[in-house]
Amino acid sequence: MLSISRTLEADVVIVGGGIGGPMAAIAASEAGAKRVLVLEKCHVRRSGSGATGNDHFSCYCPEVHGSDVEPVLNALMNSLVGQAKDVDLMRLHLLESFDIVKKWEEWGINMRPLGHWNFEGHALPGKPRAFLKFDGRKQKAVLAEQMKKHGVTVLNHHPVVELAKENGRVCGVLAIDATKTEPSFVLVKTPCVILSTGLTHRLYVNGSTPNYLFNTAHCPNNAGGQALGWRIGASMVNMEIPYTHAGTKYIQRAGKATWIGVYRYPDGRPLGPFVTKPDPEYGDVTSDIWNSAFIDVMQNGRGPAYLDCSENTPETLAYMRKAMFDEGLSALIAYMDDKGIDPAKHAVEFTRFEPILHGRGLDVDKDGLTSVPGLYAAGDMVGNAGCGLGLAAWMGWRAGRAAAASAALVPEAAGNLADHPVIRAKMELLSSFMERTEGASWQEANIALTQIMSDYANVGPYKVRSESLLNTGLTYLAQLREETKNNLKTSCSHTLMRAAEVLDLFDCAECIMRSALERKETRGSHKRSDFTFTNPLLAEKMLDITRKDDGTIVTSWRNTRV
Ligand SMILES: Cc1cc2nc3c(=O)[nH]c(=O)nc-3n(C[C@H](O)[C@H](O)[C@H](O)COP(=O)(O)OP(=O)(O)OC[C@H]3O[C@@H](n4cnc5c(N)ncnc54)[C@H](O)[C@@H]3O)c2cc1C
Repeated sequence: MLSISRTLEADVVIVGGGIGGPMAAIAASEAGAKRVLVLEKCHVRRSGSGATGNDHFSCYCPEVHGSDVEPVLNALMNSLVGQAKDVDLMRLHLLESFDIVKKWEEWGINMRPLGHWNFEGHALPGKPRAFLKFDGRKQKAVLAEQMKKHGVTVLNHHPVVELAKENGRVCGVLAIDATKTEPSFVLVKTPCVILSTGLTHRLYVNGSTPNYLFNTAHCPNNAGGQALGWRIGASMVNMEIPYTHAGTKYIQRAGKATWIGVYRYPDGRPLGPFVTKPDPEYGDVTSDIWNSAFIDVMQNGRGPAYLDCSENTPETLAYMRKAMFDEGLSALIAYMDDKGIDPAKHAVEFTRFEPILHGRGLDVDKDGLTSVPGLYAAGDMVGNAGCGLGLAAWMGWRAGRAAAASAALVPEAAGNLADHPVIRAKMELLSSFMERTEGASWQEANIALTQIMSDYANVGPYKVRSESLLNTGLTYLAQLREETKNNLKTSCSHTLMRAAEVLDLFDCAECIMRSALERKETRGSHKRSDFTFTNPLLAEKMLDITRKDDGTIVTSWRNTRV
């Protein structure tokens, strides 16, 4: 078996150092936790979906929006981050997030690039705008610096691959030390874990370039963190409700609200009714509202759909270019410059990407607490209050404070983590991948999974789910799991990390398919051919799904919290 290079202890362990993770770490430290440890798969200065920047922070600012939060809440719920969320949490997020904005400004992130609180993008004309436009280029470096100032210990290149539970409470984590070519294991005993591993992709065949697993709109390093919660028995929510993003056709990139233009048919007519000329304040919200717009026009032959920025003034074009750097789109700009693509002259084709788990995952309360004592979650991997950086920063902050308070009340966990049956089994499985002299690569397993998901659990409007398709998908998934366990071979810490991700992706896939079986209706892109209607009785309900310690899976419906 691979060696255990270190065994550590911490009051609070944070898994993932993107946006939610650092905020949780700083808050835990401020709330009095002495030993706060961040385990990050990549490097906290440049990791996660916000690695190179973001520029829209969802929040409510009374001096801009007035004294009533409800119209702003309404705008947020109707935006791309509001789908299938608990309304009470979204309201609380709005009410508390401007304090986070001020904190970020104090720490050195440029929250007012125009010198005033400027809300724009992702908005319907005439409606309140819930997104503060800021310059997030430095956000990761600033958060890393703040963690340092707060005495947080960060272990970069330490992907977490398993969690352990004792007497029903979380008691430790297993990570891979991937700092060297030869991997080893690191164990951490802790009474509190905050998961903030971002969204999950590589579950479906890539929507832009099927042959390229890593042509992704978001951080290519995030894959399957929801599975850590699933395996330890945390309730998951909204896993069956598909989320699809959209952006430039063959180079997947998020950040569509930073573009200032009008989506048009090839003959020049606008796709949507919202704008006919570029509008920096609102953007063109058509694809947020009409999610399948870009593939609909391909299916009906009226497409493709182009974003036309040509009617901008030179000033708004310059503003858009700068904002694209703030947003982390520097690589896309470099590519466009290199190829002579000028938004003033050239329309850019847009498409819908494959489904991802963004704002689908763990079910949490207002402090990020999951159904497992000691386990918290924040950010894109949260199912009922995650999707976007504002929610990640806010929930991370709350979870950090709550975890610090909880850790203070829990006596040191006894026992040797290395002998914990779940940890032991995971170490043996991962070690077996390294010990094999022959075998399949992790890419083969991952590609097979994307094929199964795209064939048997795909999303509407052009693909359907049904009891027989989903059950067949589950059968193939079980076979793929067995094949993978028995045949996968890895050669270094990097490929071992990817193999562990694939195991996580299997669990996410199973969770999606089992939830999709339980939702016996059609809702949004969850299109059931055997239940073609939308059931009004489920309109204000959410589906929870939990894996019990004995491996059985239970589902239950709860009311959406308002
Ligand atoms: C180009 C672009 C522009 C965007 N613009 C906006 C915007 O303007 N407004 C907005 O609201 N949102 C925006 N987003 C989305 C936003 O970046 C995310 O919502 C936000 O980063 C989520 O924060 P998070 O902490 O949940 O996840 P992330 O920031 O993605 O961080 C997750 C971290 O977890 C680490 N990790 C993953 N798995 C493990 C593991 N097993 N062990 C240890 N570490 C792990 C990852 O390496 C990563 O560092 C944009 C995204 C992109 C790609």
